[in-house]
Amino acid sequence: MRPIQDAFPLLHSPKKIFITTHHKPDGDAIGSMLGLYHYLTKKGHHVTPVSPGEIPEFLEWMPGVSVMLNYEEQATASLEALKEADLIFCLDFNDYSRTKTLEQPLAEATQPKILIDHHLFPKPYWDYGMSLPEKSSTCEMVYDFILLCGDQLLLDLDMAACLYTGLMTDTGSFKFPITTAGAHYMAAYLKSLGLDHTKIHEEVYDAWTENRMRFLGYVLIDKMEIMRKYNSALITLSRKDMNLFNIQSGDTEGLVNYPLSITGIKFATLITERSDEVKMSFRSKGSFDVSAFARNYFDGGGHFNASGGRTKSNFMDTIVYFKKILSDIHPK
Ligand code: 5GP
Ligand code: MN
Repeated sequence: MRPIQDAFPLLHSPKKIFITTHHKPDGDAIGSMLGLYHYLTKKGHHVTPVSPGEIPEFLEWMPGVSVMLNYEEQATASLEALKEADLIFCLDFNDYSRTKTLEQPLAEATQPKILIDHHLFPKPYWDYGMSLPEKSSTCEMVYDFILLCGDQLLLDLDMAACLYTGLMTDTGSFKFPITTAGAHYMAAYLKSLGLDHTKIHEEVYDAWTENRMRFLGYVLIDKMEIMRKYNSALITLSRKDMNLFNIQSGDTEGLVNYPLSITGIKFATLITERSDEVKMSFRSKGSFDVSAFARNYFDGGGHFNASGGRTKSNFMDTIVYFKKILSDIHPK
């Protein structure tokens, strides 16, 4: 992969640009995609942001959401935009398979592909890009990219709102160790533009339904197992559990973090039964590498302290398998 600066000449004249991100997009995925959309549009390009699927409700307030295409609902228009594009930007993932629906169209596209991402182990097929696992978020990298282009003064409130969202969500509201001085400088600069950070925090974190809040209570009482011996906690959610509370996709977001607030718990896992697979989320505090754990046992990956994986095995078998691994490896 060539450095992103080598792609600058491609942006000297107005281009048609396709931007996409990973499936089940989070605040960093949509924030970085729309932040870049606003910037490149301001530079005179014709930009189409495409999400591989539905976006969660807590991101629907974001400036630019109305122009974004959802591949699952607008496949023809999305593929048309991909075909017409001169350039493709891929944000917050580094492997086509993470888009699920767009895997094949992206693999077949022959236009230059530019990667901006902070996950480990990028695939070798990117033409240009930045792959920096030490960065807090893809939003921080899009901000760096805009500065690298010499365009700090083009940053406006729409870009600020989008980019702040991913910075806030991927740093756990500036809590995780990955939150560098640079991340705070970025927040400070966006704030100086007039950013309403309280509104963004409320849009993202205080938009729960009553059902979701009661579901959290149910999960913590009935569905969380603490395994002191392994400094670990496990939450398991069957489809039946989710149906009980009419839980929507996205409502389980963040559940996996709760057990890490218990003294002594260093490793937390959420196992969720989905219609087509069993999905796993892993989080750790300290020195247990959940990215390697996800890669080794559950066909997944991610970051050192936050990762995910999946399996086609059934839900109950997965729980048994997971516990067996735990007893074999004793996370510390
Ligand atoms: P989450 O638990 O929120 O789904 O994912 C946590 C982190 O792990 C995210 O950074 C996400 O990109 C990554 N991740 C989740 N699932 C997978 C997966 O199946 N494969 C890979 N490579 N990364 C994943
Ligand atoms: Mn991210």
